[in-house]
Amino acid sequence: MKETIIRLLGSVLKAAGVSVVIAGVVYVTQGPALVAFVISFIGQFVISYFYNSYIEVKAAKIIKEQQLKELEILAKVTFTIPCAACKVESEVVVNPKEDNHFICPNCKARNAVYLSAEAALVTEPIKVEAI
Ligand SMILES: [Zn+2]
Repeated sequence: MKETIIRLLGSVLKAAGVSVVIAGVVYVTQGPALVAFVISFIGQFVISYFYNSYIEVKAAKIIKEQQLKELEILAKVTFTIPCAACKVESEVVVNPKEDNHFICPNCKARNAVYLSAEAALVTEPIKVEAI
């Protein structure tokens, strides 16, 4: 809270300082110095508000992109797959959402990864009491 008040006071003083300089220039050129001061003072806060909003939106977009990249990395799984031509096994990173291919390091054959799923029954161990 105290830090926020100090930052706010700092911003007000900086804006006032810049506005005094602008008003001084306008005064020297015999323009409406007070109007220049007020417009400059308010204008700086309006510009600051829009700039901060832009930065927040940009930061949120970057964070979202980063999260999507992380999810994509987590979706990939490494399997040890034998080559369809020479049967030499190699480690292949597979993404279940994409068509996956790899080149066999042994025979240089281009392989497509075929994913299939099957089910197994879950059984309970039989309790046998000691006789
Ligand atoms: Zn091969």
